[in-house]
Amino acid sequence: MSGRYIDLHTHSAISDGTDEPADLVKKAARLGLAAVALTDHDSLAGLAEAGETARALGIDFVRGVEIAVRDDFGELHLLGLWMPEPSARMREALATLRRQRAERNQAMLDALRANGMPLTMEEVRAVSKGEALGRPHIARALVDKGYVASRKEAFDRYIGWSGAAFVPRELVSPKEGIQLLRGEGATVALAHPFLSRLMTRERLDDLLSDFRAWGLSALEAYHNAHDARQVRICTDLAAKHKLLLTGGSDYHGDNKDGIALAVGRGNLRVPHWVLSALRDQRKRQGLWV
Ligand code: AMP
Ligand code: FE
Ligand code: FE
Ligand code: ZN
Repeated sequence: MSGRYIDLHTHSAISDGTDEPADLVKKAARLGLAAVALTDHDSLAGLAEAGETARALGIDFVRGVEIAVRDDFGELHLLGLWMPEPSARMREALATLRRQRAERNQAMLDALRANGMPLTMEEVRAVSKGEALGRPHIARALVDKGYVASRKEAFDRYIGWSGAAFVPRELVSPKEGIQLLRGEGATVALAHPFLSRLMTRERLDDLLSDFRAWGLSALEAYHNAHDARQVRICTDLAAKHKLLLTGGSDYHGDNKDGIALAVGRGNLRVPHWVLSALRDQRKRQGLWV
């Protein structure tokens, strides 16, 4: 792969990926990527290590984060790109998100116990040293305990949205989420809109009007979960709402089978001009790049 490609959506072992931040950046450099962003869920803890590794290897690095929000239809994800060292407000907000995550994880362990599958938080923690643990870790622990044969079975039967032990997570509104990230001076993108089963062109059109007014700058058009038609809807609506485009693999290492860094399921290519356009906008806004 030539150096003209980038990946602006990845997860390390700090959240629910499996690569250490430095190893993820090394992989990106080995692939010849021009740039990579680390966008762990609810945590900035991997950014320093990833940034240092990127500097040493001469690959461009973007400090990112991914947070979840909830509207009437369900969960949506936001990416904050160019996250600075966190303000006190952001540190507190991220700590709250991780606490809500931990409470929800415990509630799912309680439900699993009620279903005859006792599992302790220590056993989940044994799967990962990360600080934003979630369902992928519970799924692994369920496999390790022999309760299910595969992580897929864990999601299908127990912790997926229709599973017997599923508990929804407490989430902030899209407006709060966008304003939180924007308040830090980050570039805010709506991640993988069509990962939501209920998303339609009409609904996305409506959402983007509001989201842009609250500070959204970009739409993640290029993502492993989007087919060609959905990419096209994203590029059309981004143009309509004067939003920039972003894209990435949503790589999670061994926690998401079949999703490779940079290329996703194989044919994802995020061109370098995507990053240049985001940078140019930030420069025009007087923000750091
Ligand atoms: P959480 O943040 O704890 O709600 O967990 C969300 C993570 O679980 C995401 O990274 C998804 O990739 C993963 N996930 C959600 N549903 C499934 C599923 N049906 N099969 C496998 N992984 C899933
Ligand atoms: Fe994830
Ligand atoms: Fe996401
Ligand atoms: Zn992600």
